[in-house]
Amino acid sequence: MESGKLTRRELLQRLSALAGGLILTGPISGCEGFWRREPAIPVDSWHKGVCRFCGTGCGIMIGVRDGKVVDVKGDEYAHNRGRICIKGVLNREILYVRDRALYPMIRRNGRLERASWDEAMSLVAERFREAIDRYGPDSVAFYGSGQLFTEESYTANKLFKAGIGTNNVDGNPRLCMASAAAGYISVFGKDEPMGCYEDIDYATCFFITGSNTADCHPIVWERIMDRKRSRPETVIIVVDPRRTRTARHADYHLAIRPGTDVALYNAMIYEFIRNGFIDQDMVENYLTFREGDAERTFEDLKRHVAQYTPERVAPVCGVDARQIEEVAYLFAASEATMSIWTMGLNQQAQGTAANRLVNAMHLLTGHIGRPGATPFSLTGQPNAGGGVRDTGALAHALPNGRVVANPQHRAEMEDLWGVPRGRISPKPGYHAVAMFEAMARGDLKCVLIMGTNPAQSLPHAERYREAMQRTFLVVADAIYPTETAQFADVFLPSAMWVEKGGVFSQSERRYHLVPKLVEPPGEARSDLEILVELADRLGYGDLIKARTPEEVWDEWRQISAHSPYNFAGITYERLKKERGVLWPAPTEDHPGTCRRYVPGEDPMAKGTGRFDFYGRPDGRAVVYLEHQQPSSDPRSDEYPLTLVTGRVYEHWHTLTITGKLEELEDITTDFLVVHPRDAHRYGIRDGEPVLVESRRGRAVLKARVSTDITPGVVFAPFHSPEALVNRVVNNTVDPISKEPAFKESAVRIRPASSAA
Ligand code: SF4
Repeated sequence: MESGKLTRRELLQRLSALAGGLILTGPISGCEGFWRREPAIPVDSWHKGVCRFCGTGCGIMIGVRDGKVVDVKGDEYAHNRGRICIKGVLNREILYVRDRALYPMIRRNGRLERASWDEAMSLVAERFREAIDRYGPDSVAFYGSGQLFTEESYTANKLFKAGIGTNNVDGNPRLCMASAAAGYISVFGKDEPMGCYEDIDYATCFFITGSNTADCHPIVWERIMDRKRSRPETVIIVVDPRRTRTARHADYHLAIRPGTDVALYNAMIYEFIRNGFIDQDMVENYLTFREGDAERTFEDLKRHVAQYTPERVAPVCGVDARQIEEVAYLFAASEATMSIWTMGLNQQAQGTAANRLVNAMHLLTGHIGRPGATPFSLTGQPNAGGGVRDTGALAHALPNGRVVANPQHRAEMEDLWGVPRGRISPKPGYHAVAMFEAMARGDLKCVLIMGTNPAQSLPHAERYREAMQRTFLVVADAIYPTETAQFADVFLPSAMWVEKGGVFSQSERRYHLVPKLVEPPGEARSDLEILVELADRLGYGDLIKARTPEEVWDEWRQISAHSPYNFAGITYERLKKERGVLWPAPTEDHPGTCRRYVPGEDPMAKGTGRFDFYGRPDGRAVVYLEHQQPSSDPRSDEYPLTLVTGRVYEHWHTLTITGKLEELEDITTDFLVVHPRDAHRYGIRDGEPVLVESRRGRAVLKARVSTDITPGVVFAPFHSPEALVNRVVNNTVDPISKEPAFKESAVRIRPASSAA
């Protein structure tokens, strides 16, 4: 395996030398394995915490000495059983990277200059107040992050929606998980997966679609590999246009053409029906059928999928009809099938439709609500679920699955928040892409951005960089300078992770606590402190009464008691002692819920039947009839290839954190993977600069010629700020989830030298 320009062996040697004896342990057949540090640096005290990085949410033990974090290791009592990946073990180093933001700054004469907190917050409050008074509440916005703590996202949402009176609250989870959320909500009535990591230990078939689990959720992958090792007949099916490390360990790899998942899943459902794998009890007692808003029947579904036979779908998806038949058989005939997916499925113009169909495949075959049988989306960030989706910190949403368009939901939240009826606007705010479009038009006057880097992470990035220049932009982050900070009028230094403390929630609905253990550097403050001060200065201090993480959490868990998400029993005291708790958990003695919607297991599910899909008014889940649509950015003679973007194992998002680590500085991320056939056709040579152009922009990357990609498709990580591949990427959004189609960009390539 190669990571950038280092071989794996070279990477190991480098890390061991630089980071105090990092050791790679455990099985490495599946992925990089897991890491520990040896010999451990002596510590004064060990504290239970959670990794700062991905949505796997690994439990870690954090060693502190003399007010500094000096060691990190996996928590053997947490769900990850003591394992952590390379990013997990580098949680210590990220606190002490170069370029930590130390003091507030205000732009004067075109340059950000040091200022006091009072100067900075006075200016922010003055400009927000001026915009609200002059142009109305919808002239301001909050753009947050799945990396903020739950308490921070909850407070921002309450301040803007119930205080200022605008629903212009959105965040970067819109870019990665919105289609998964929209899928769950439309099928089950409520967001978030019904299964849990424990299901991995029981599954006999893994259907991994649009997820490079081995690289992006390595400890989840290790658990899958454990299952495969202990029960070798367990089947792993991977659907991905790339031969990723995940795909290399699959029994079946379907190298699908990007954006054709809906056709594939329809063909699989066709096969389920043809082979008699339909769970009739589910169909008769627990399901309804819809096409858009229109009611349909199971007979309609049969007629619908008859248009998607494997023979017809095979050329659309670029896979063998026989493979589709075999995979459908294995999915349905298995004792317990678990589907796992993430951005590959979500980041399409038909992301919601694809999500609905994966859920439908489980519902129709009865692979749901039993150990090992579940659809299960993985979250990218450490707190996109609990922090943003559950708190409703999105433009259309309110806490615990409510939506702003529903008058009853607004009234409930107005009562719970103690604001007058009519305070919450019925109009959905700007979703992420629309928010930056509004900035381009000049409709948004002031925007507060916290813990995220949209100048690099948005698609069609150059367009939105220009938009940011038109807006009074307040950026709060732990690292300076980010790409987004370059456009800030005010920059606020944030505390990071154990410098502030709060609650994260990972992919399996587990709320768990990150304690405050050390002081932030310089004058950095927690994002919660910044929000509380903004509330005070704007005159909403009476609304934002909870001021510490624990006070906010108490308010939030009590609000949840009035919803099907009920986690009133998850107190801070419990979180300090336990390795997190999976909600629902309505009382303090409730152990938490592994499988939702199953009476006897989920405290919110009623009756004695197999299921109670209580998020839906009739208690039945919905199977949608979906059609494969043409690509939102079709290939043409001018743009004959499809670009998909993603990540590498070692790095995190836009490199604001991991890009500062000396240990990882040789892990290159500015490359483009090109199939040899395409390299030959377009005159591309391995290692040489290649110009990638789309209908939106251009970027220069280094060619990596490899058979690990389907012909006609090219791949680039989105990490590198210099290469900025998101200049090229498609900003069309899914019509339901509003998630951009990052995985569907038509491009052309040529040697960069030919463009000179
Ligand atoms: S798998 Fe994710 S949560 Fe676990 S240690 Fe690695 S980065 Fe952290």
